[in-house]
Amino acid sequence: MKKVAVFPGSFDPITRGHEEIVRRAALLFDEIIVAVGRNTSKTTLFPESVRFEWVKKTFSDLPNVRTEVLEGLTIDFCKRNEAHFILRGIRNGADFEYERSIAHMNKQLHADVETVLLYSDSKWISLSSTIIREIIKNKGDVSQFLPDVVDVYA
Ligand code: ADP
Repeated sequence: MKKVAVFPGSFDPITRGHEEIVRRAALLFDEIIVAVGRNTSKTTLFPESVRFEWVKKTFSDLPNVRTEVLEGLTIDFCKRNEAHFILRGIRNGADFEYERSIAHMNKQLHADVETVLLYSDSKWISLSSTIIREIIKNKGDVSQFLPDVVDVYA
């Protein structure tokens, strides 16, 4: 069986924290699908097409990573793509509690899909897209926190 993992998120915008999780996981799975959430209810700072292109460019050097748009439930997306793993990153206790609840619910919905958690590198433990968005709204320099290919002021 080919080991396919889905890494779902808003990526508004993608950060070095996300990037690092995917690069490490790319060594563990045969294929990773980075699934960029469509989020019809939640408004994002950056439009879907921009978030998608940044994610795609970030991993263009990794042959076993591809980028897709995620609409609907992650678990249904997994089924459609024959993915048996959901990949998530963990920074702190709050992430852990949240991820545990989601993982339990997903397991109830589809027992064949396993959630795999990777600890954030200590360097990126305080990094979140939410904080990055606040800095961007105030025109701060976020370049050190984002993948090299992402220029939010271009
Ligand atoms: P969501 O909007 O669903 O919270 P995000 O796009 O913020 O999704 O994050 C997607 C995944 O990346 C989540 O598993 C989240 O915990 C993880 N993540 C976000 N920031 C970091 C970071 N700095 N280090 C490691 N993992 C992270």
